[in-house]
Amino acid sequence: MRFDSRDFVVPHGGRHVLRGRPTEVEPFYESKDDFRDILSKHVEQLSELQEMLYASKQYALLVVFQGMDTAGKDGTIRHVMSGVDPQGVQVFSFGRPSDAELRHEFLWRETLCLPERGRIGVFNRSYYEEVVVVRVHPELLRRQGIEGAPTTRTWQERFESIVEFERHLHRNGTRVLKFFLHLSKQEQRRRLLARLDDPHKHWKFNVGDIEERRHWQKYMSAYEACLSATSRAHAPWYVVPADDKRNARLIVSQAIIDELAALKLHYPDVSAARRRELRKVRRRLE
Ligand code: AMP
Ligand code: MG
Repeated sequence: MRFDSRDFVVPHGGRHVLRGRPTEVEPFYESKDDFRDILSKHVEQLSELQEMLYASKQYALLVVFQGMDTAGKDGTIRHVMSGVDPQGVQVFSFGRPSDAELRHEFLWRETLCLPERGRIGVFNRSYYEEVVVVRVHPELLRRQGIEGAPTTRTWQERFESIVEFERHLHRNGTRVLKFFLHLSKQEQRRRLLARLDDPHKHWKFNVGDIEERRHWQKYMSAYEACLSATSRAHAPWYVVPADDKRNARLIVSQAIIDELAALKLHYPDVSAARRRELRKVRRRLE
């Protein structure tokens, strides 16, 4: 089934961007085999587009993933990027900031990891945690040298910094796509139970995740405010229904393909003189 990845884009300033959106939609595949076929076609297309991105060296692509624990960030990155030349993609995960990181402004550590032109950079969590987990736990601001209770203005200013930062990236050749993997609280419960029941998944289990579940509504409100304030044409947010992992992977891969295809990438032109030179070299190898 065909679908339009734009259907999942959050409008700037939109209301109820999460509560009004499903965590599950009618799947875009008919069976497990059909899913594998579609995904492998997507992976192949992505691999070709990435090669052209690399050859033309005009643009970089930054792909940001956010979502609650178990929303499927790691799995989506692994599956969607599986066919891309490892030299063309860099994945960075951002967890709790270190003391050294906390001594800098809040965009600093991510700026060190931005992709160069020709490459795809993937952020598994990002500076968006600074307006989500930090908003849910404002006491974290103290470690950033910010005293006193934050106000709406505190978050508004962070949104502005982020929007301007992403605008700067866009103006300078970096395309930015952001995916919020939208999971239901019930599905998170199932996934956490699965982690507890599978010894191979115990390493992924974090007792703190259970604690964070208690703040679910606060997280949703923080995300809701953030998504509509920071979704722009130059750096759109996609709300991806994530209760069905397979469907989420199809949506994310399609959105990345659409973005790269819109760049109308092509291999660098080869002049007639250069072609003559290559023909000459070829004869020497015969
Ligand atoms: P995981 O993705 O499971 O490895 O968990 C990473 C943890 O780091 C999550 O609980 C995030 O909320 C937390 N984290 C990421 N960025 C920040 C940040 N800037 N400030 C505080 N906590 C963060
Ligand atoms: Mg976790």
